[in-house]
Amino acid sequence: MLVMRILVVEDDDRVARGLVTALRSASFDVQRVATAERALGAPPADVVLLDLGLPDADGIDLLRRLRDRPQTAIIAVTARGEERDRVRGLRAGADDYVVKPFGVAELLARIDAVLRRTRAARAGAVDEEPRLRVGALTVDPGSRAARAGGAELQLTRKEFDLLSLLASRSPSVVARDQILDQVWGTAWEASSRTLDTHVGSLRAKLGHTVRIRTVRGVGYVLDGS
Ligand code: CA
Repeated sequence: MLVMRILVVEDDDRVARGLVTALRSASFDVQRVATAERALGAPPADVVLLDLGLPDADGIDLLRRLRDRPQTAIIAVTARGEERDRVRGLRAGADDYVVKPFGVAELLARIDAVLRRTRAARAGAVDEEPRLRVGALTVDPGSRAARAGGAELQLTRKEFDLLSLLASRSPSVVARDQILDQVWGTAWEASSRTLDTHVGSLRAKLGHTVRIRTVRGVGYVLDGS
């Protein structure tokens, strides 16, 4: 299998050490740099994990310059509470973002997702929202239709969003926080029981075609087998 290269741009040594160790254990080829200058001089990577708070440059400017390399996916890393940076980062072309402090499982799931997208783009596979297939399930984000074992599923808007998110990350686990953030939005602060309720109704509609498995203390994963 092709080894994916990850460039970690992070000035905090302690954070960087943890990241490098975790990513190497996940079999990535990892290089770490602490400054924007070195980031620009580094060999091309498949994914850049970019801390937007660097000492020698504006993180957003650096993001734009790295963005010029079409084969590289960029995950912006922002500090908690820096909502503005996150929005600027996505506008400047980041493929995704994580907020410090983040867990390894969440980071790996996001890396997995951006790699999948860039691979699909490289293969010339498609338009922006490719049809997702997990086992007997097909999800078409374009027409917002989902079929399980050939039969069209009657889903509510949130059920569709939830299923589509899980399908896009399968077989990776999607963290509860991430689901709440992406399906219900950042303003959503009610009890996460809503999520459990939606998972319950989705499970009932999916029947035995695919399985939404609970990963205790982490989140959910869609199993196609
Ligand atoms: Ca920093």
